[in-house]
Amino acid sequence: MTTPSNRTDDVRMRGFARRTTVAEAIGWLDGRVQRLDEELLPLRGAAGRVLARDVASEVDVPGFVRAMMDGFAVRAADTAGASPYHRLPLAVVGESMPGRPFAGRVGPGQAVRTMTGAKLPDGADAVLPVEVVEIQGDRILAAGEVSPEKHVGRIGEDIQARSIVLAAGRRLRPQDLGLLSSIGAAQVPVVRRPCVRIVVTGNELLPAGSKPQGTKIVDSNGPMLEALVARDGGLAVNPGIVGDDPGAILDALRSPSDIVLVSGGSSVGQEDIAPSLVTEHGELRIHGIAMRPSSPTGMGWLDGRVVVLLPGNPVSCLCAYDFFAGRAIRAMGGRAADWPYRRLRAPLRRKAVSTVGRMDYLRVRLIDGQVEPLAIGGASVLSSATRADGFVLISDDSEGYPAGTEVEVFLYDT
Ligand code: AMP
Ligand code: MG
Repeated sequence: MTTPSNRTDDVRMRGFARRTTVAEAIGWLDGRVQRLDEELLPLRGAAGRVLARDVASEVDVPGFVRAMMDGFAVRAADTAGASPYHRLPLAVVGESMPGRPFAGRVGPGQAVRTMTGAKLPDGADAVLPVEVVEIQGDRILAAGEVSPEKHVGRIGEDIQARSIVLAAGRRLRPQDLGLLSSIGAAQVPVVRRPCVRIVVTGNELLPAGSKPQGTKIVDSNGPMLEALVARDGGLAVNPGIVGDDPGAILDALRSPSDIVLVSGGSSVGQEDIAPSLVTEHGELRIHGIAMRPSSPTGMGWLDGRVVVLLPGNPVSCLCAYDFFAGRAIRAMGGRAADWPYRRLRAPLRRKAVSTVGRMDYLRVRLIDGQVEPLAIGGASVLSSATRADGFVLISDDSEGYPAGTEVEVFLYDT
């Protein structure tokens, strides 16, 4: 059997011949990734999910003419000329309450006690608010006028039958569920959540929850990636640590999912197994990206699924996830591909240096409304990302910016 290490097209130990630009890598990914199919969910479980199709109403809401105030259903003409100084008597002949309509008809000189949401009785065309009425036993004195239609809700005033109430692509808000319920929707068609296989590689890793021991370190990327995947609407499936072993990694790559993320071993060293496996069993389309950190990022496909190879260094892993994997997961789940980060513009406190030909992902803090690049830049220093408020991108055609330049900051907190 051929092991990946003795194949002639082995990518290891050759170094990256040419680095793909971030834009090219995103272009490949966008062309490859598709929105997933839909599933029907009970209304109650659909908050935050993405609507897969337009939803139209089959019914008018409200489906009947209704009172919009507490008061008395009247014939507007009967109140003409009424004022606090000229009060007009009306006979109260019954009541119309929400869900319990008045069975009769309101005749001339008559009124029916009513409440917001009740059906307006036949014969009546307005509601006289309780505030402009004096109640005297079984009659009232109207102390103000109302015009026809006053305080009355029309049929279909909220929602008209056959109209589209929510459009495909909508992230369902709590009030959307309320609205869907009002039109009688029991289930909603939402985009399926992408199942994301997270394969954390590294013989040096102990599972989350362990204490570091000697040269063994505890997995940071697994918990971080699971949280990122959840944020972006994905479902992490079978996350866990796999040793730097080709058979185990291949099994993990092949286990069912919609997309695979591999953490660690993504570069061109002896222990970097995943790139060779993807080359051998699928296609490694991109390997090495002109960015810092995260240049040893790869992507391709295997068994028809997109595979993103993320560097093991935690900051690189975070950055590569954000640039590529998260984008793919959001798009598969029907969300906007763009970053879910809030943005603001502020001036740099110090200069920010970069190199032409690569994109820089610079962790920054905000101090007194100014942007302070963090001095510790190493990709292994995860605390540089926890101390940061966000990041600034320096595009590949820029050498950086002098102090005082206004830059766009992407904030980690939403
Ligand atoms: P690699 O990309 O596998 O060459 O790993 C680069 C560096 O990141 C090495 O120092 C690894 O020990 C470290 N590393 C790899 N995976 C993880 C992980 N899941 N959590 C924390 N550090 C890691
Ligand atoms: Mg490794």
